[in-house]
Amino acid sequence: MNCFNHDAIAAVGICKHCNKALCHECLTDTTNGLACTATCVESVNTLNYLIDRSRKTATAQRGNAYLTSILLGLMGLIFLAFGVQGGRNASLPLAMGTGMVGLSIVYAFRMRKWIKSLGHEPDLDT
Ligand SMILES: [Zn+2]
Ligand SMILES: [Zn+2]
Repeated sequence: MNCFNHDAIAAVGICKHCNKALCHECLTDTTNGLACTATCVESVNTLNYLIDRSRKTATAQRGNAYLTSILLGLMGLIFLAFGVQGGRNASLPLAMGTGMVGLSIVYAFRMRKWIKSLGHEPDLDT
C-alpha cells in the first residue's frame, strides 16, 4: 500500500481520523495515534479530548450513582425509625421507609451491574 498523497512512496501508517494510508512525511504522531499532518491532527486531538472527557464524566457518575443509593437508603431508614416509634400513623412512615430502602437496594444492584459493564469496555489507551 502506498501513500495517499505520494503514489511512489510506501505508506507507513494510517490516519486515525480519515483512515488514509500515508507515508512518513505525511503523518504526524499525535499523543494518541497517527494523523495526516496539519489537516487531521486537530481532529484527532479533539476526538481524544472528547473520549477523555466522557470517560472522566463516567467515572464521576459512578461515585454519584452510589451516593444516590446511599442517600435513598438513609432516608428510608429515617422513615422506618419514625414508624418503629409507633403511634397511630405508623403505617405510613413504615411503608415509605420500606419502599425507599427497597428502592435503594434495587438502585445499588443496578449501578453495580452498570459499573461492571463499564469495566468491560475496551481500553482506548495504547
Ligand atoms: Zn487524516
Ligand atoms: Zn506521503
